[in-house]
Amino acid sequence: MSYLDNILFAILLIVGFGFFASSVKKIIRNINLGVDVNRKDNSKARWKNMALIALGQSKMVRRPVAGILHIFVYVGFIIINIELLEIIIDGLIGTHRVFAPYLGVVYDILIASFEILALLVIFAVTVFWIRRNVIKLKRFINPDLNGFPRSDANYILYFETVLMILFLLMNASDLHLQNVPGGVFHKAGSFPVSQFIAPIFNGMSNELVVLLFEVFWWLHIAGILVFMNYLYFSKHLHILLAFPNTYFANLNPEGQFDNLESVTKEVKLMMDPNADPFAAAPVDENAVPSKFGASDVQDLNWVQLLNAYTCTECGRCTSSCPANQTGKKLSPRKIMMDTRDRLQEVGKNIDANKGVFVPDNKTLLNDYITPEELWACTSCNACVEECPVNISPLSIIMDMRRYLVMEQSAAPMSLNAMMTNIENNGAPWQYSQQDRLNWKNEN
Ligand code: SF4
Ligand code: SF4
Repeated sequence: MSYLDNILFAILLIVGFGFFASSVKKIIRNINLGVDVNRKDNSKARWKNMALIALGQSKMVRRPVAGILHIFVYVGFIIINIELLEIIIDGLIGTHRVFAPYLGVVYDILIASFEILALLVIFAVTVFWIRRNVIKLKRFINPDLNGFPRSDANYILYFETVLMILFLLMNASDLHLQNVPGGVFHKAGSFPVSQFIAPIFNGMSNELVVLLFEVFWWLHIAGILVFMNYLYFSKHLHILLAFPNTYFANLNPEGQFDNLESVTKEVKLMMDPNADPFAAAPVDENAVPSKFGASDVQDLNWVQLLNAYTCTECGRCTSSCPANQTGKKLSPRKIMMDTRDRLQEVGKNIDANKGVFVPDNKTLLNDYITPEELWACTSCNACVEECPVNISPLSIIMDMRRYLVMEQSAAPMSLNAMMTNIENNGAPWQYSQQDRLNWKNEN
């Protein structure tokens, strides 16, 4: 590599990582638009969750075929990119396989395992593509994914395949140049897969193979940088966010709902026979929220917004949702996708208005998620249980329902009738308390 190449490479790195850093900054800013929630407790259980669920993929393998193939892609992709470190050093200082002399046989083992993993990634990605585009599993052809999300899933599969093929071609041309008489490159690495590709370079001049090697090398590193920057626009952001998402996930039992402190106080006061209803209540402005529930993304908490960015759009939640299975309009995956889309829209609004959100007459409720979807939820928690990265679509649904009930009195008629009965009769039925035992007088 010439000095000019080294400088070009440094510029490419600065641009690639610079754009990525600005996207990360925007994501953090957008997540912080959510209201605060304390998730700093019980760090031991949180680390354990992260290790088991994000790193160990324990929930992915509940569906073994997809789970095991996903592990190939995940481990392969992460581990192969360890090689990125060597590529970056080689590119910056003009060396060739800089680690090889220091690692000796370990280097050979590493390169050999990267190659086998690359092959497994290509195999897994091919099966994923077939599941989506040929077998057309129901959760992948659901209307939630119409438009960009469906293309996005395929783009990622193409990206990963191309990157792995470039990696193997780079190694194959390298191996060829190591083995030519006189050795253009010094011997380094063991190539169990690309040794079968290397013969395609037989008969070519050394200059041409060196040129091809450089093309593969540059395309590989440029492809990785493009892929890294594409993450911001893609569901593939989960490869990074699955870790904080599982760490900050709710640790309470799944059936336990958050009560509003101000409402709890009110109810306790009503139930306390010794309470003086005319006593002036102490004013605690912090205890009374300015709005009950959520109608837009800024009303949700930051973990719910982190959930939205982390959603992999796998549809495991929707395929287990009893409301969806029985033909209702609800899809928990769509709840997460809508939340992310609205959050991105709010973020762009802030960017366009010098850091301030200017009301745009839109809200997550109605413009993205309809009350019909929200009221179809049975609050069974199947979506939360199934999610491979511990996302809770249900918590967003409940906060938005809370807004409908407490701010707009807009519950379905059957619920309104039940709530009126509870208020008036102390029970969900329309009989007064005195008539409760009338049934025993009949006959
Ligand atoms: S909690 Fe609601 S959204 Fe989730 S699976 Fe059950 S019905 Fe579907
Ligand atoms: S919420 Fe979880 S289960 Fe549902 S699509 Fe997103 S990642 Fe998959």
